[in-house]
Amino acid sequence: TNIVEIRNVSKHYADGDVKALDDVSLQIAKGELVSIVGPSGCGKSTLLNMIGILDRPTSGQVYFEGHRVDPSMNLDRLRSEKIGFVFQSFHLVPNLTAIENVQLPMMPGKLPPSARVARAKALLDSVGLSDRLNHRPAQLSNGQRQRVAICRALANAPSLVLADEPTGALDSQGGRAIMDILETVCRDSTATLVVVTHDKALADRSDRQIRLCDGKIVSD
Ligand code: ADP
Ligand code: ADP
Repeated sequence: TNIVEIRNVSKHYADGDVKALDDVSLQIAKGELVSIVGPSGCGKSTLLNMIGILDRPTSGQVYFEGHRVDPSMNLDRLRSEKIGFVFQSFHLVPNLTAIENVQLPMMPGKLPPSARVARAKALLDSVGLSDRLNHRPAQLSNGQRQRVAICRALANAPSLVLADEPTGALDSQGGRAIMDILETVCRDSTATLVVVTHDKALADRSDRQIRLCDGKIVSD
C-alpha cells in the first residue's frame, strides 16, 4: 500500500515565472527509503513540501494513506501525528534543552508528562545522546543537533519522515553517521523515509532514487 500518492501535481509560485513542479505523479509505498536528487532549483524541496502537505499544489491531488488531502481536513493535526520533518539547518528551539526540544511535538498529545519525558529520553538514548539531555543547541555539535532533530521528528511515531538535505551542514563523515542514524531509527519504527540530497553517495544507499530536472521527474 502507498503512504503517499501525488497525481498530476504542478506548483507555480506567485512571484515566479517558472513552474517549480510540472505535472508530477508519484507513489511512495510504505516502508520505502526514497531519495530525491537533481540540480539546485529543480524542485526537490517543493516536491518534498507537497509530499509533506506543508504547501498546497497549484493543481493536482495529494493522497495520504489512501485519503485525498483537502483543505477541509485538519492538516496541522495530520502533519503532527503522521509526518516527521528533518531540515538542513536543524530548526531546534535555542532556549530549550535537547530533551525539551524532543518533547515539543508531544505537547498537545495525550501522553502524561512522565511518559513524554521517558519517550524523549529513550529516543535520545537510541541516538547516543544520553549524556546530552540537558544541553541546549548552542552547546552541541552540528551532528548532535541533527540527532536531536531526528528524535524530535520521531517523537510522535510518524508513519512518514521527510528530510531536506539533512547532511548539508555536516562534513562527509558526519553526514554518513547521520544517514546511518536516520535510516536505523526509521527502519526500527517502520517509518517511510524520503530524503532530498545532492550527495550521490547518500542517494545511492536508498531503495529508490527519483531524479528531478526543471520540475519534472526524469528518472525513477
Ligand atoms: P531545489 O530544492 O531543487 O533546489 P526548489 O523546490 O527549492 O528547488 O525550487 C524550485 C524552483 O522554485 C526554483 O526556481 C526556486 O527559485 C523556486 N522557488 C522555490 N521556493 C519559492 C518561493 N517560496 N517563492 C518563489 N519561488 C520559489
Ligand atoms: P535551509 O537549510 O536552506 O534553511 P531547510 O532545510 O531548513 O532550508 O528548509 C527546507 C524547506 O522547509 C524550506 O522550503 C522551508 O521553507 C521549509 N521549512 C523550514 N522549516 C519549516 C517549518 N518549521 N515548518 C514548515 N516548513 C518549514
